[in-house]
Amino acid sequence: MNNRLYGNLIFELSQSGRCGYSLPKNRFGDYQVPKELCREQDAELPECDEMTVVRHYTNLSANNFGVDNGFYPLGSCTMKYNPKINEEVAALPQFQNLHPLQPTDTVKGAEAVCTLLCRSLCELTGLHAFTLKPFAGAHGELTGLMVIKRYHESRGDTQRTKVIVPDSAHGTNPASAAVCGLDIVEVKSLSDGTVDIDALKEVIATVGSDSVAAMMMTNPNTLGLFEKQIPVIEKLIHDCGGLMYYDGANLNPMLGAARPGDMGFDVMHINLHKTFSTPHGGGGPGAGPVGVRKGLEQFFPEVSPYHGNFSVAMRAYAYILSLGREHIKEVGPLATLNANYIKESLKDVYELPIDGLIPEQSSPTRSLCKHEFVFDGLKDKSTGVTTMDVAKRLLDYGYHAPTIYFPLLFHESLMIEPTENESKDTIDGFIAVMQRIAEEAKTDPELVKSAPHNTPIGRVDDVLAAKHPVVTWRQMRNEE
Ligand SMILES: *Cc1c(COP(=O)(O)O)cnc(C)c1O
Repeated sequence: MNNRLYGNLIFELSQSGRCGYSLPKNRFGDYQVPKELCREQDAELPECDEMTVVRHYTNLSANNFGVDNGFYPLGSCTMKYNPKINEEVAALPQFQNLHPLQPTDTVKGAEAVCTLLCRSLCELTGLHAFTLKPFAGAHGELTGLMVIKRYHESRGDTQRTKVIVPDSAHGTNPASAAVCGLDIVEVKSLSDGTVDIDALKEVIATVGSDSVAAMMMTNPNTLGLFEKQIPVIEKLIHDCGGLMYYDGANLNPMLGAARPGDMGFDVMHINLHKTFSTPHGGGGPGAGPVGVRKGLEQFFPEVSPYHGNFSVAMRAYAYILSLGREHIKEVGPLATLNANYIKESLKDVYELPIDGLIPEQSSPTRSLCKHEFVFDGLKDKSTGVTTMDVAKRLLDYGYHAPTIYFPLLFHESLMIEPTENESKDTIDGFIAVMQRIAEEAKTDPELVKSAPHNTPIGRVDDVLAAKHPVVTWRQMRNEE
């Protein structure tokens, strides 16, 4: 890598006395900075010439892997193509330079974007009203649960504190319920990965139907499977007086296929940064608008100052408009087709723990996964090659790893989501590399176990990196 030429740290490139800039001549005579404001020692800043600085940071940036330089099949996180026009739209000075305290009659355009985006989200989900205030998916969950809590309280139903969450749920679901001051009750999944209705009935009977506040569901669930029993579940929960919450973080498989509002859900959130294309690596930015059925909008709480993450809303609206009513319907079917194509092409060499056969049907009708699916490592377990090894070896071939070791339902989870945006050629390339790695695991397992070989940094110790991060140059020097 080029980067090695230039060293890994700007401090290592420093040469005493080098300088990459010149300050204008001092026009203030010999003004003395008050002593108490001065450092006792000079700051230890790297001293480099301008080209060295430019090359150092340019080379560092080239070590970043993103959707713009390669396939990024991260499951449960929808890292999709982010059209550059969205960035241009979000950066238009007429929008970007607005101040949230400006008089409202000077921000009519921004207001219109918010109104129109909410209207589009209502149309796409079958719900009645949306708030754009939440800053992320988890924040949306909290907002939605606050709506549910306030709804029950408005009816004097203060004993409704139980939130039922399937064991396959994203970790933010139980966390949000806890932050909202509600109690979490877990319900088991069947061996096919969907909610176990008998277990759900038992849970309701145990907690008492008049204490059920809500059921939170992710659909398609974390295994990428459509929850076929939603009508039954919805009836069970509504009959108790509880509300149905839909985790729509990854809504792309549903676009053009089905709407949460039509399935009987009362409250949901959408991750605009996943489903509607805002780049969100490294923790942000995001937006988790919450939608509700008619009558619940009066319970929307104030969860953020001003108007939420407006630039994310801009990108989402630009994305929706660029697809248009006509093409947005293709999103769900394409996401589903791409995921199933990979699953079927690789399931001979990777373990597919949930094969999608519907047990109660005599003919082995294949149940399709939706936008993503989960392998449980390589099929041939005798090689000793783990999911971690496969993920690291993928980096050598220029692919970002899928989500690994999540969901926790399997030991060697490898969760793949191609998204709707990828061409068949790209997907075929990924399939070929995954097959090749499976072959290497048999013929040369050490090669895979010691990967990556082509990246600037080899395998880091994840635990040490998390427990004992060395994040400053001084810390690093002290370690030596
Ligand atoms: C990503 C995700 C969340 C959380 O969204 P954040 O924006 O990261 O807070 C919740 N549920 C599911 C299913 C997700 O994939």
